[in-house]
Amino acid sequence: WNLNYDSVKEVISVLESEGLAMSKKFGQNFLIDHNARESIREKIAYKENLSAWEIGPGMGAITSLVLNSGIKVKAFEIDKGFCRLLKERAFSDEANFTLIEGDALKTIANQSEIPDIIYGNLPYNVGSIIIARLIENSILPERMVYTLQREVVERICAKENSDDYSSFSVLCQIDYKPTLSFVIRKGCFYPEPQVESAVVVMEKRKESLVPNDLRETFLEVNRALFSQRRKTIKNNLKALNLKDIDRVIASSNLAGNERAETLSIEKIVEIAKAVNSDKL
Ligand code: SAM
Repeated sequence: WNLNYDSVKEVISVLESEGLAMSKKFGQNFLIDHNARESIREKIAYKENLSAWEIGPGMGAITSLVLNSGIKVKAFEIDKGFCRLLKERAFSDEANFTLIEGDALKTIANQSEIPDIIYGNLPYNVGSIIIARLIENSILPERMVYTLQREVVERICAKENSDDYSSFSVLCQIDYKPTLSFVIRKGCFYPEPQVESAVVVMEKRKESLVPNDLRETFLEVNRALFSQRRKTIKNNLKALNLKDIDRVIASSNLAGNERAETLSIEKIVEIAKAVNSDKL
């Protein structure tokens, strides 16, 4: 397998010879720029002897570089045609390559191990759902490296008091420190997407901001607080059917009329603790 992934002509010719078509439904935009793929590989291969999961390998543009770095890859791909290509042509001789066929949203939760790193050039329509699913299922590798729509990366990294800050930002930051690493131009993809992309590197914190025994309540509180952006935190917390909502708010040193986007993660931890006491 020596496909030149940087040549649109070669990529199209392999697709044609295999009877494959690109699918909009699965958010398929292939990374055809060598420098971009090499910069991503550098973020992934951060130490020796790594085990990795890749979400959405497509034709294997990033996978091939990662395998060449001696990394063990378990790849999750939904498109049956690409699965066939990966198994039978691209990496048929690769002992370090395993393929899990099907919807990653379902298959990731069935694995028995957690890898050192998870990465992927994620389909725009399900990228954030996949990341949320991993974190909610406590699948927390040392590092995650994703290529996403730039706005999604900005939401992942957003701090309180900014328009981009949401329950998703909070979820992405309780166990990780995310950084927008670099931007990738539209022209680096085939077909060219409508929006700019960026690579986010999410480095696991030494210690989660949320203690384990509080995690479930925290996730519930986080969802409730941001459920309606225009509403005050008191109104949003009503969905939790608390015994004494005013006490929960007062013991978190809040007035109740604040909006969720002003709350730091530490503050949401305080609220979650108060909600736990309310349940007793
Ligand atoms: N990694 C390749 C690259 O960079 O050239 C392809 C990236 S493309 C943006 C997204 C890939 O994710 C496609 O191969 C698509 O079929 C796959 N995909 C989409 N939804 C998926 C899902 N729910 N589970 C697993 N793979 C999915």
